[in-house]
Amino acid sequence: MILAPTLAAVGLLALVGVYLSPQLAKTAQIRALRQQCRATRSLALTYDDGPGAELTPALLELLAAAGARATFFPTGRSATRDPELLTRVAAAGHEVGCHSQDHLHAWRTAPWLILRDIDAGYRTLARWVSPAGLYRPPYGKTTLATWWRARRRHARLAWWTVDSGDTHAVLPTPQTIVEAVRRDGGGVVLMHDFDRDPPNDEPRETFVLELTEQLLKAARGEGWRVCRLGELLEETRWSAALAR
Ligand SMILES: [Zn+2]
Repeated sequence: MILAPTLAAVGLLALVGVYLSPQLAKTAQIRALRQQCRATRSLALTYDDGPGAELTPALLELLAAAGARATFFPTGRSATRDPELLTRVAAAGHEVGCHSQDHLHAWRTAPWLILRDIDAGYRTLARWVSPAGLYRPPYGKTTLATWWRARRRHARLAWWTVDSGDTHAVLPTPQTIVEAVRRDGGGVVLMHDFDRDPPNDEPRETFVLELTEQLLKAARGEGWRVCRLGELLEETRWSAALAR
C-alpha cells in the first residue's frame, strides 16, 4: 500500500536531482556571468557547431579587422569535416572549446551515452582543446552526468547570456540583439557558424555576419572589452572566490 507513494516520492526526488539541480546551478552561473560582463564591461562572441566553409572564414576576417578574439565550439564531428579551417581559427588566437562529439541532447539520451559523447568530443578535438578546455553542452541541456564529467575534467561549463536567435524559426533583427546586449552592459552572445542547408543558409549566415559586425561596432562605441569566454570565466572564478 505504502510502496506506490514511496516509489513516486523516490522517482520525484531522482527527477529533481538529475534534471532540476543542474538547471538551478546553470541559472546561478549565468547570473554570475551576466554580472561579470556588466562589471567589467565585456563582450564575448561565441560560435557553435562550426566551422562552416564560407561563414567561418568571413568571420575570421571580420574579427581580425577589429583586432577581436572570439570563442568557437565545434563538435568533434563538425571539426573532422574541415580540420584545417579549425586550425586557422586557433592560429588566429581564437579560443576553441568542446561541444561534444555528436551533439546529443542530454535530456533525451541515456546518461552513459552522454558521458561517451563528451569524452569522444574531447578526444577528437584534442589538437585544439585541452582535456580541461571549456565545455558547451549541446542545446544548453545538462543533467548530473554532464556536471559530474565536466567537474572530473576540471572543465568549465560555457553558458551564454544572450541567444542571438540565429537558429530560431523566426530570425530576429541584429539590432534587437545588439540592444539586448546594450541593456545588459555587455554579455556573452551565442551564434552558430556551421554550414546550413539551402534555402535556409543565406539569410542566417548574413545575419551572423551582420550581428558580429554590429556588436563589434557597439563594443567600440560603448568602450566594451571584447574577450574570449575563457577569460571571463576565469574572472568569475576569482570574483566568486573573493566574495566568499
Ligand atoms: Zn550546438
